[in-house]
Amino acid sequence: MADLLPEKCTVLVIGGGPAGSSAATQLAKRGIDVVLLERAKFPRNQVGESLIPHFWKFTDQLGVTEKIQQQGFLSKAGGITVWNNKIHQILFSDYGYTRPGLHIERDVFDQLLLEHSEQQGAQVFNQVVVKKVDLSQSQPIVAYTDTRGTSNQQGTIQCQYLIDASGHSSLLAHQLETRQTISSEMNFLSLWGYFKSSRFVGVDRQSHSHAELKTMAPVTFVMTHDDGWLWHIILREKTSVGLIVHTDKLTGMNKIQREAYFIHSCARIPYLKDLLRDAEFIAGSLQYRPDYSYYASQACRENYYCIGDAAGFVDPIFSHGVQNAFYNAAVASLAISESLKNTKKAARFAALCENRMQQFYSFSRALSLGDFGCNGVHRDLVKSLMKSMPPLELELMLVASEMTNRSENFKQLAREAGVWEQFSEQFEQQKKGVIAELNF
Ligand SMILES: Cc1cc2nc3c(=O)[nH]c(=O)nc-3n(C[C@H](O)[C@H](O)[C@H](O)COP(=O)(O)OP(=O)(O)OC[C@H]3O[C@@H](n4cnc5c(N)ncnc54)[C@H](O)[C@@H]3O)c2cc1C
Repeated sequence: MADLLPEKCTVLVIGGGPAGSSAATQLAKRGIDVVLLERAKFPRNQVGESLIPHFWKFTDQLGVTEKIQQQGFLSKAGGITVWNNKIHQILFSDYGYTRPGLHIERDVFDQLLLEHSEQQGAQVFNQVVVKKVDLSQSQPIVAYTDTRGTSNQQGTIQCQYLIDASGHSSLLAHQLETRQTISSEMNFLSLWGYFKSSRFVGVDRQSHSHAELKTMAPVTFVMTHDDGWLWHIILREKTSVGLIVHTDKLTGMNKIQREAYFIHSCARIPYLKDLLRDAEFIAGSLQYRPDYSYYASQACRENYYCIGDAAGFVDPIFSHGVQNAFYNAAVASLAISESLKNTKKAARFAALCENRMQQFYSFSRALSLGDFGCNGVHRDLVKSLMKSMPPLELELMLVASEMTNRSENFKQLAREAGVWEQFSEQFEQQKKGVIAELNF
């Protein structure tokens, strides 16, 4: 880690999660002077442990694929959902993917990405908290507190371009009051915790003991329950279990009551209770995220870019968060590096970037949320993305949308975009893949 904070830099990145670290890598690889400030000491905990295989194309670009492979994260072949009692299975290999999805420990994964950005030439400072951004001049000035020593040191850094990758705290969108809460019937919060010795769902649709991970590929297991939906993601040493719950269900509950609700739910929900029958809850591991779905109405301007969760958050049902973060980082870094070559076009590049990011988020929201209300779905942008996607990738998304009951609008957009007809036959075949029962 770098030691002395500079007073100026070309690009300053706030936050060292996948969005921030991958933006820093993209810029440093182009020879651009980039400083990244991260408030936590890494490794730090983070939720979001299921990755769908799309993410590899970004790690290839970053040059970090080999390091990820060497880590030995668990490979997953696909997912199984039990949605309103209907069981579906998706295998990535059916859609032409030759590389697997992963179940990752985010503390390890995020640290690996951050170290990689430093190895590519980014100046990375952990335990430096950004407090405020002054955008009144053409070059943003970032005020920080350096918490590394015994006394907290205050300072400022001036930069030509700012990237806000501060995650769900969305520093800049809060400051600029552009953060909008999604107005949707899908008004959820999340509670998640970790278990030791949980069983897992194998690609063979059976339940297996943790020890069988050596011989059986796992899948991500997702199902509905009375109060929302849940995930079960097996990791190398522990298992992540998350309950996504309608907000009003937990209103007024304190921490102890939330934990009691979580443990009680895990012990009574069908399938989940079987998977957890030999498991032990890791005391103190329960976490809670109340402000759940939001977006920044303006994510990019000529001298700043909000990316990853700082720009928006979509219900994680289809595990899009990390790949959205990678995608935003790639387009924002491209816009900034082009703006540095041609400053007169900086506003134009920012507008293009904004458009692409809104397109990607709109696509995720259209897939994940049942209603479109005033929740940041730009229908035309989704349709144009559908038309330009590789057919197998789109087909996977359409089949994924079929796994939950939130899909009608998504299919409607595919019809309007004129891309539905080419899939309907395969779709019917897929439906035959609906599973009658799981053997737990
Ligand atoms: C319940 C839940 C389940 C999820 N499941 C999945 C999943 O299965 N798959 C998936 O792909 N995604 C999932 N996600 C989404 C995923 O976690 C996020 O999309 C992803 O972490 C976004 O990366 P990021 O870099 O934008 O933000 P983060 O990973 O949050 O990183 C932001 C960083 O900024 C730092 N920071 C914040 N404020 C400051 C500041 N003021 N100064 C300096 N640093 C600061 C933070 O310490 C943090 O390290 C899930 C999310 C939730 C809430």
